[in-house]
Amino acid sequence: MKKNAKNKNQATTKTGSQSATNGTSKENGTSRSKSNGSQGSLLEKFFTDELKDIYYAEQHLLKALPKMAQASTTEELEDAFNDHLKQTERHVKRLEKVFQLIGKKPEGKKCEAIEGLTKEAESIIKDTKEGTMTRDAALIIAAQKVEHYEIATYGGLVQLAITMGLHRAADILDKTLVEEEETDMILTEIAENDINLEAEHEGGYSWETESELVGTPAAYSM
Ligand code: FE
Ligand code: FE
Repeated sequence: MKKNAKNKNQATTKTGSQSATNGTSKENGTSRSKSNGSQGSLLEKFFTDELKDIYYAEQHLLKALPKMAQASTTEELEDAFNDHLKQTERHVKRLEKVFQLIGKKPEGKKCEAIEGLTKEAESIIKDTKEGTMTRDAALIIAAQKVEHYEIATYGGLVQLAITMGLHRAADILDKTLVEEEETDMILTEIAENDINLEAEHEGGYSWETESELVGTPAAYSM
């Protein structure tokens, strides 16, 4: 489940983020590209930009998570959002530490993706009825989209840090990666254990009027 950033040969995570065995180290890299002239490292620049992107995203989430917690129907989901809010505060601090390790000032860069994803969560709150399980089911999906964005970003950053020999930074980023993955799993459990099933009882389906057609084997043979 947990990926250890210290060891390049460790197993991959289940979530589809970059594996720890992608072999992009300087030592074994064989691909050659056109010269970068006398500029600084392009990979360093990209790594720093990605750090700024996720730094912005984490700070944005500090504002979004309390709204999602407050809008939740169940205490279980509210607690999960509040717990993750506390973790997110730590994620911000860890990123500041990584900036410090590479000798740069912590700075955010507008992340359109996280703005879009949190707007989606806001629309869900607007479009679903207060106090319903359907709202929680929908909020969980919105939150998981955010977690997957973070998992992709941290997974990539851990690998880039390892590739560039930034092992302390890789360890720090990996701690956050693990927490994002755990949060994703917790949200799945909450949805599957109870919320989705209860949401299923909130009203009838439009297709139930033709239920005979929907349920026949012919409907599956497409
Ligand atoms: Fe985070
Ligand atoms: Fe997160």
